[in-house]
This record gives sequence, structure tokens and C-alpha cells, in this order.
Amino acid sequence: MTFAKLGLIEPLLRALQHLDYNTPTPVQAQAIPAVLAGRDLMAAAQTGTGKTAGFALPVLQRLTMEGAKVASNSIRALVLVPTRELAEQVHANIREYAEHLPLSTYAVYGGVSINPQMMQLRRGVDLLVATPGRLLDLYRQNAVKFGQVQMLVLDEADRMLDLGFAEELQAVYAALPRKRQTLLFSATFSDEIRVLAGLALIDPVSVQVSPRNTAATTVKQWVVPVDKKRKPELFMHLLRKQRWSQVLVFAKTRNGVDQLVERLREEGVNADGIHGDRPQATRQRALDSFKAREVQILVATDVAARGLDIDDLPLVVNFDLPIVAEDYIHRIGRTGRAGNTGEAISLVCADEVNMLAAIETLTRKVLPRHEEPDFVPDHRVPETDANGQVVKKPKKPKKPKESSAKRGLGRWMDSAENITEPLVKPVRRVPTFNGGPKKRKP
Ligand code: AMP
Repeated sequence: MTFAKLGLIEPLLRALQHLDYNTPTPVQAQAIPAVLAGRDLMAAAQTGTGKTAGFALPVLQRLTMEGAKVASNSIRALVLVPTRELAEQVHANIREYAEHLPLSTYAVYGGVSINPQMMQLRRGVDLLVATPGRLLDLYRQNAVKFGQVQMLVLDEADRMLDLGFAEELQAVYAALPRKRQTLLFSATFSDEIRVLAGLALIDPVSVQVSPRNTAATTVKQWVVPVDKKRKPELFMHLLRKQRWSQVLVFAKTRNGVDQLVERLREEGVNADGIHGDRPQATRQRALDSFKAREVQILVATDVAARGLDIDDLPLVVNFDLPIVAEDYIHRIGRTGRAGNTGEAISLVCADEVNMLAAIETLTRKVLPRHEEPDFVPDHRVPETDANGQVVKKPKKPKKPKESSAKRGLGRWMDSAENITEPLVKPVRRVPTFNGGPKKRKP
């Protein structure tokens, strides 16, 4: 399969050749012809599958081939994304794809001054990438009008709902022309997403490139059990022992990010952090330095790291497990991208066992555990089973007191070890000592 066979025009093919995209990924092979044919689309595709080009290429082509010139303060295609970082990233990709096309593109998001965005929109923009909150601000101030919108893309729709953008999305829909083409991309398909799809899409083509709610198979995943307070120490130990090169680390809270970055810096490691409390410019700088490999370790919260695309990222470490199990899939989707292999290591303490079980239920896979000899936890992380459930172990029988042990099992065991003649079913006799065997629950 080639991009030319999918029906893409020459200026796009030239841009792809320059980017070294030789073969369409499965989501691209399925989505591009459907979008070019004008169909609505509902795609289950996580990041790393090439979904951005999957929607951007045909959208750019349709904008080039059809429709009137964009009017001032108007847009012709709208790509909604959940975070600022993703807006920047999607827009950077789109600019590359659109290099030889006579189209204008732009990205707007919160956390930065609105005035330059208003100025830019004055001329009109063919394709606008936006986060929902800032888009509505601009709309309410008449800086952007939706009358010319012919295409809408909801990228990472599940994440937009997780981040509480449901109302903003409703408000945007209400303001858009009814006649339009809509494409919805989501890594996971919850009931809420299906409702959203029901509202936004008409007779959509359905594209599914990886089984529902499964993590990328190219990522080797495992868990290291550890006591909570020893996580930083274990992290340093593994960093040195396994000679980690570039690592993206996820921590649960903003505070957690700052503390780990500080600790790593104290140890002389080149680390930086991104989270929602840091200004956008600082976040972008940290990300750029990480991409340029000037920073070895980037520690992030889920929101800040959403949609990061870093070439050849070999390793993701979950310093804390995510509270929402779906985030695990998003996190490990940062490695093993575009067919490369990657590793995802989770440092898990006893408190997190329910989160681990939820992840295992979602991914339908029990994550293998590797204990680090010097870090075996005092608070054991309970076992989980193939259904992702915490296995409640039967209570251990009480240890017999010294005196009774000598009279009972202890002496029996001692003598049994010296017996050369086989006993008649000795094991069956033992349980009578404490009232019968306790069966493990299935
Ligand atoms: P995405 O899932 O859109 O975030 O894309 C993941 C990565 O794959 C990005 O770095 C893209 O530049 C890259 N990519 C997307 N499509 C292709 C392709 N057909 N060939 C090679 N790389 C691709």
C-alpha cells in the first residue's frame, strides 16, 4: 500500500516523502479514503498509530480541493484537542503536511495571551487546532466565527471528556453549522464517548486499529513492587543499574513531579518537570529540551504529558500508577511508537494494588512482577489474578505456641523428616491439627 494509492494529491505526497513516511499505517489506510469520500468517521486509535496524519492529510486535501476562500475571522476546519501540548504538536505535524499547500493553519490554547491569537484570526484561518476552553473564549469575543466550518475533528475525545470539557463541546456543537463532516478519534470507547459519537456523527465509518482498550503490544511492561517511601531510592537505583538513557516519568501530583525532579537534580541527574502549574512557555521549553535530548529525565503529570510525541522514546516509568486506568494506556503509548519497541516500568506500592488491578482488568493482562533484591517491600503488594482482581489470600493459620508445637505439628514435622519409610498420606493428616484445610477461593 502507498499514499498515492489512497488518492492523496501530489503536494501532500511530496511532503510525506520529505518526512520519510513511505507506507500508510493501518489507521491511515482506513481513514484517508473514507474521509476523502466525505464520510463521518469514528476511529478507535491510540497515539502512536499515526492517527494525526490519518485525519490531517484528507482534511487538508479537501480544504484544498473544495470550498470558498476563508473569510476574515472565519475558519474552514476545526481540530479540537484536550491539551495545549497536543495542540502544539498536532499543529506542528499539520504544518509539515501542508508545506506545499496554499492553506493557512494555526493553533489556539489557553495559558497564553489571547491578543496575538485574536490578531492572527483576523485574516481568517483554513484549519484551526484548538483546545475547547480558549476556542469558546475567542468565539464569545467574536474573534472567530463558525459559519464557514465544513469539517470538525475531535481528537482524543475520551481525554476531553475526562478533563471535564463535555459542556464546552456541547457549546461548540451548538454553534457549528449542521452540515459538516465530523471525525472522532478516541483511544478508548466508554459509554460517554458513544453518546458523544451518537450526537456528533452521521452514519460514520468505523475504524479500529488496535483491539478495544488494549495497550500497544510493542511495549514490554512490568511492575516492580516497592514500599512507597522507597520509590525515589528505587528509581535512582534502576536508573544507574539499567543505565537508562532517556526516560519519561509519570507522577500522580504536581507536587510529586517537583519533588522527584528536585531529588534527581540533587543526585546530579539532568531532569525537568512539566505540570499544569508551570507556565506554558516553561512547559514547552522543558519538552523541547527533552526532545533535543538535553534533558535526560522528564517528569510529568498525566494532563501535561497528554499527546506528547517524542521519537524513539525507549522507556516510560510510572513512578505512581494513574488513578484512572485508561491513563495507563495513554502513558505507555509514549513508547513503542510507530512500530518501535519500548518498555514501561511501574513502581507499585501496596496502596496502589486496586489501581493495578483496574489496569489489569482494562488491559486484560496481569503485569509481570520483578522484585529488586534490595527493595523487596515490607508492605507486600497483594497478588492480582488474571481478571485483574486482588486475590484475597486465606488467612494464615495461627502459629502454634511453642509448647503445643512441640506436642503437635512441630514434632511431627521433625520426626517426619527423618522417616525413611513413606508415611501413609501424611499430608491429609496434618489439617486435623487446625480444623481442616482452607481452600483458596477460585
Ligand atoms: P501519532 O499517532 O499521530 O501521534 O503519530 C505517531 C508518530 O508516527 C509520529 O511521530 C508521526 O510522525 C509518525 N508517523 C505517522 N505516520 C507515519 C507513517 N506512515 N510512516 C512513518 N511515520 C509515521
